Amino acid sequence: MSLDDKRLFRSDLKVNIYAARLIRNVANLRSLCKNGEKFCAVVKANAYGHGVAEVVGILRDEPVDFFAVANIFEAVYIRPLIRPEQKILVFEPLNLATSREHIGICAQNGFHCAVSCIDAAQYLCRCLAGTDKRLNLHVNIETGMGRLGIEPAMAATLIDIIDSSKNLNLSGVYTHFATADEDDLSFAYEQIENFNRFLDTSGIKGRKDVIVHAANSAAAMKLPEAHFDMVRCGIAMYGYYSRSQRKPPVELSPVMELEAPIVHLKRIPAGRSVSYGRSYFTTRDTLSAIIPFGYSDGYSRAFSNAACVRIGEKFAPVMGRVCMDQFMVDVTDIPSAKVGDWVTIIDSDHKSPAGIYRLADIAGTICYEILISLHHHLMRVVVR
Ligand SMILES: *Cc1c(COP(=O)(O)O)cnc(C)c1O
Repeated sequence: MSLDDKRLFRSDLKVNIYAARLIRNVANLRSLCKNGEKFCAVVKANAYGHGVAEVVGILRDEPVDFFAVANIFEAVYIRPLIRPEQKILVFEPLNLATSREHIGICAQNGFHCAVSCIDAAQYLCRCLAGTDKRLNLHVNIETGMGRLGIEPAMAATLIDIIDSSKNLNLSGVYTHFATADEDDLSFAYEQIENFNRFLDTSGIKGRKDVIVHAANSAAAMKLPEAHFDMVRCGIAMYGYYSRSQRKPPVELSPVMELEAPIVHLKRIPAGRSVSYGRSYFTTRDTLSAIIPFGYSDGYSRAFSNAACVRIGEKFAPVMGRVCMDQFMVDVTDIPSAKVGDWVTIIDSDHKSPAGIYRLADIAGTICYEILISLHHHLMRVVVR
């Protein structure tokens, strides 16, 4: 246990990160790419809960050209952890509320920053005027995501502003899919068409120095025509399709496994209630194991009376409500269970009843949200 670090750390709650699987997933995704296509590893949200320092530490030695983060705070954090020639793409667009200081930091560090509107580009020009700084910008084109992105009809003006400023450099042009992970890809094809129309009219395809990109994990796997110059993969790198697949387009292995020890065993007679709200009653003499993990660590209350954990080869169901720092599982049928035994709370197997897909189903959400909920204070352990 290290107490010199001011950050709170729980070394008894282990998130194992299997380096070889992460590397293999990246290689499998890269194998879908054409020669010369760049690979952008999306490591926002603490690398989807896997631990950004750990993930970046593994991927710095792999064929990763870009790391994408949500904001410049994450960018500043990972800059010293990656190779100098690896680039950082920041998704949150620079805007009128971004401070001059932060804009300077982006330019100095060579960050590639999204920009989504004309006002923002003019502001960036003003902020950097008279300096010798040069800021790399990626223009986000609205093709159907309905989030950020400039309307294609306005994008030429934005690009002109960038091209006519000696402090701004047009490094990329991109868009983002709203439905690439769905079975029905018709809207994704419409978005590709909108994007291609923009690329053709703007002449961007002829500019070799501008990186054109669009594909998230789902599009990288299913829409080769959406790859352009670079793919941006998040969820697939960590071993998941955005939803469980019957016929996976490429082999992916879950990179993470989450474990905690049993801290207490308790015999409960039949007919007693367990945990807050009395939502569970024992129907037999029950052996209950207490796991020191709760919704404050990222284990949703939605898992109450619904999820299970793996102990060795067996599965034990959650009894009663998940508490803030604890939950109980029924280990009556696992009589060998002892205090100190490691319990697998998140299994690294797509089909496991304690796997991410099952947990996401129970919580009525997507696997992304289960992964990113895992708190920073859990210890990430890189398994080589
Ligand atoms: C998060 C994000 C991605 C990665 O999406 P996945 O589905 O996890 O592959 C790609 N592009 C943008 C703009 C994103 O915000």
